Amino acid sequence: MSGIVIIGAGQAAASLAAKLRTEGYEGAVTIIGEEPVAPYQRPPLSKAYLLGEMPLERLTLRSPEFWAEQNITLKLGTRVDRIDPAAKRVRMAGEVLGYDQLALCTGADPKRLAPALGGDLGNLFTIRNLADIDALEPQMVAGKRLVVIGGGYIGLETAAVARKLGLEVTLVQASERILRRVACRETADAVRALHQSEGVTILEGTSLRELRGDGMVDSVELVDGTVLPADLVVVGIGVTPATRLAEEAGLVLGDGIVTDSQGRTSDPHIWSAGDCAEINLNGARMRLESVGNAIDMGELVACNMLGAGKDYQPKPWFWSDMFASKLQIAGWNGGYTRVIAKNVDGQSFWYFRDDQLIAVDALDAPRAYMVGKRLIEAGSDVTPAEVEAAVDLKSLMRR
Ligand code: NAP
Repeated sequence: MSGIVIIGAGQAAASLAAKLRTEGYEGAVTIIGEEPVAPYQRPPLSKAYLLGEMPLERLTLRSPEFWAEQNITLKLGTRVDRIDPAAKRVRMAGEVLGYDQLALCTGADPKRLAPALGGDLGNLFTIRNLADIDALEPQMVAGKRLVVIGGGYIGLETAAVARKLGLEVTLVQASERILRRVACRETADAVRALHQSEGVTILEGTSLRELRGDGMVDSVELVDGTVLPADLVVVGIGVTPATRLAEEAGLVLGDGIVTDSQGRTSDPHIWSAGDCAEINLNGARMRLESVGNAIDMGELVACNMLGAGKDYQPKPWFWSDMFASKLQIAGWNGGYTRVIAKNVDGQSFWYFRDDQLIAVDALDAPRAYMVGKRLIEAGSDVTPAEVEAAVDLKSLMRR
């Protein structure tokens, strides 16, 4: 029995496997995952799940019955040691599995602080998987002092949850501003104002000298000499694509596992999807770290494994929940040259690359998100002047 083997058991793997069945594939499908749990959603980990507002059953992507009915084998708590591309085999402790086609949906791992910075102290947490939340959640107790390192979505969402739970929160962002990698200054200003109004202290342009403590972290020293007392520290400083198996198998790597326009790696029988896969987006080679990409690319790879021959055309979208606010992002802002801020039906920020609308950030502005997404996906030629002048955003779709 060979069939299709998927390494990784996250969103991309689950979408890929399910799609194989809806497309009529009847061969063996095996998902191999290191975590001992069936595929689950990651976005709620730093939002409703950490807040205690979402039960584990709702986090899980599919019921146990689904996997059984679809005849999809889940090999959980299982680490793949290596792939042998010549023999088309996957090696695990005590077991070898052959494949006709293989998908690498290995995701990404959180970056960690070096031991020299105190990265091996206790009460120091990252947020990527269920075990991380199981360890962190008992420490999220009202009155405790939390220092968050990193002002991306992990850091900001965790800070928001912690304030809601009554912790004192200081967030430390090394470069000059929060959300620098993913959003414009105007969006960062709005998100900073939201956090500050809810009592989060945000320190930007200052980085960590070291974490201090005797076994457990008790304070955070910054390069400017500031010492922040801390009962716990959450580190959200980005991720590294999980490429070990791909590298050892000799696949071509870039910023992740290099895939062609259809999701195939440099080996004709091996595919990749999700956070670990380097793709082409608007002419740029990059990885798209988002659940939308994991779903769409996972499904596309399933179709292409069965011979569809479709090119991947990413339609990026993201969202973030912070306090009572929702930030929705349509498109990808890479290479933007101009941002137009609108205060109609909530706050929104419209990114143009020259005269082309490429992305919209909408803060509590669902209509702006909906209009922006439609215009971007349609490749609209709406101009900056028209967006600037619009009193009714929906009118932009009727031009
Ligand atoms: P991220 O988006 O790369 O943000 C990391 C942040 O930490 C950046 O602001 C970065 O600053 C800063 N930083 C890096 N090194 C630092 C240091 N030594 N000290 C202080 N700050 C430092 O990654 P993330 O927030 O950890 O999230 C991890 C992944 O999960 C990402 O793929 C993210 O998109 C995803 N995620 C998404 C959502 C969502 O879409 N709602 C929610 C949670 C997680 P510079 O970039 O300016 O260097």
